[in-house]
Amino acid sequence: MKTWTIQTNSTEATGKTARFLGTLVQAGDVLTLSGDLGAGKTTFTKYLAEGLGVTKNVNSPTFTIMKEYEGRLPFFHMDAYRLEDSMEEIGLEEYLEAGGVVLIEWPEKIDDQLPDTRLHLTLSYDGPESRTITVTAYGEKAERRAEEWLADDNAHD
Ligand code: ADP
Ligand code: MG
Repeated sequence: MKTWTIQTNSTEATGKTARFLGTLVQAGDVLTLSGDLGAGKTTFTKYLAEGLGVTKNVNSPTFTIMKEYEGRLPFFHMDAYRLEDSMEEIGLEEYLEAGGVVLIEWPEKIDDQLPDTRLHLTLSYDGPESRTITVTAYGEKAERRAEEWLADDNAHD
């Protein structure tokens, strides 16, 4: 397990780094996003999707648990916030085997269904425009992705 932190001072700065990560993610990658309401999870997700080549607008999935988008790879967005039964089978394997990238907001709701290898981000509010993003890589694959992501200074402000 390895940890990094990123500071952003605007929505656009978060967008820029998220978009870059979107260009790097590969089939089978799982990203999980934690943080209070308003921390920027959905914002991060929208830009990441853009980097993945998704052209449709990404909205929080309210009525469906998992929303699918077409990009360079299939992109699956899940917001577990409103999930009532945490024992409900999400079937992550299926999405991953389909060659997709899966992003889950509020992963703590489905803790025991999360894969061992994943890139976990925690967004926290520092002020109206500033956020700290703590990046934790679980597993080697996630570590490689984070290293590639965070090594490129041009991708950040
Ligand atoms: P969540 O999904 O975590 O509830 P949202 O992404 O829906 O949060 O909302 C975050 C809000 O905070 C957006 O309106 C966004 O524009 C704003 N914001 C301000 N500064 C930042 C920043 N540095 N990074 C991300 N979002 C920011
Ligand atoms: Mg959200």
